[in-house]
Amino acid sequence: MNASPKTNLLDLTRADLDKFVVGLGEKPFRARQLFKWLFKRFESDFDKMTDLAKSFRQKLNEVAEVRTPLIKLSQVSADGTRKWLLALEGSPAASATGEFDVKQCIEMVYIPEPGRGTLCISSQIGCAMDCTFCSTAQQGFNRNLTTAEIVGQVWLAVRELQHLSVAPVDESLDSETGDAVLAPALSPATRSPRLITNVVFMGMGEPLANYRNVIPATEILMDDHGFDISRRRVTVSTSGLVPQMLKLAEETNCALAVSLHAPNDQLRDELVPINRKHPIAELLAACWYYVERQNARSITFEYVMLDGVNDQPELALQLVQLLKGRPAKVNLIPFNPFPATRYKRSPAPAIERFREILNEHGVIATTRRTRGDDIDAACGQLVGRVQDRVVNRLGARLGKKRFAVEVSS
Ligand code: SAH
Repeated sequence: MNASPKTNLLDLTRADLDKFVVGLGEKPFRARQLFKWLFKRFESDFDKMTDLAKSFRQKLNEVAEVRTPLIKLSQVSADGTRKWLLALEGSPAASATGEFDVKQCIEMVYIPEPGRGTLCISSQIGCAMDCTFCSTAQQGFNRNLTTAEIVGQVWLAVRELQHLSVAPVDESLDSETGDAVLAPALSPATRSPRLITNVVFMGMGEPLANYRNVIPATEILMDDHGFDISRRRVTVSTSGLVPQMLKLAEETNCALAVSLHAPNDQLRDELVPINRKHPIAELLAACWYYVERQNARSITFEYVMLDGVNDQPELALQLVQLLKGRPAKVNLIPFNPFPATRYKRSPAPAIERFREILNEHGVIATTRRTRGDDIDAACGQLVGRVQDRVVNRLGARLGKKRFAVEVSS
């Protein structure tokens, strides 16, 4: 997908950059300096990298570049959640009328919370896993992202958030309300506390189906000379590709989340079709192996709450049987509806009851707070909604509610 003959430096781990720089006839320590400019100062202009020799900067200008996805739309929710629609290479630039091929786009979401900021990134354009409740599945699979396109999302988000002067969230709490106190916006030079503390592969795509490019990306995110995000705070989420999970246990040490969504094979076969290939017993065996091999604290199990489908109390008890006494946490996700879905979100009391049953039986469970409801912040939804707009404009007149977007070319 690299249309440009230049090397995109966001594609390179530290070891790769060492080789690249030595290949240009420079000393290895130049790679360390360059890596710092890229990932500590977020500089993309080689001419501004003043401690590099001019001749080296000239060489870099000829053979290298820093290229990120392009922002096509951005939205901000009343609760501070931000969402971007990003175009990748191969997608025609937006025309004067703002039209572009959303099938070439991915989504990225930033969720600020007290004491942390989570960036949700994509690993593929579309997805082939075909989970029945997921709006990305409706688009089908287009292609894998490159390492640079994955790392480039985080790089772009850091730059955007700095540029927007988003206030980092202070750890301190208001003595009266207990709410987190927002620190005043810091100048780009004083970048502490951090804006992005957590990165989750919970946007578009199945990260373990793009193993070859996702692994170097996690390495760059966790590298202390790179983004320096703690290994417990870089989370790969999978629908259950067991062979790749076993490989992951040997080759990296990021956190793992598993989209379980059902406590028995009959139901999971229907909701998450990959279960027909790798059923629950096999999936859980891989999870426990991962914890043991990685000395990890636990695996997070995602469980989307679908009204009348997987939210009954007896299913909570079945889930207890699977997870009791295991290094597991359950994250209940209220279903985010999208046009033409056959599912409905479980009512709040059903979610609460489900959580209580798990907790009462010693399985740690939390409910994910819905964020950015006003901007379709869930997986695949912005692309879905933009497609609807295009359809609307073409005259199909589906009568769907439009949404306000801020177009930034
Ligand atoms: N393919 C990966 C990661 C992407 S989706 C995976 O399956 O884990 C991130 C999470 O959002 C998954 O748990 C996914 O099942 C869930 N999800 C997808 N569509 C959703 C929806 N409409 N409402 C709530 N959660 C959804």
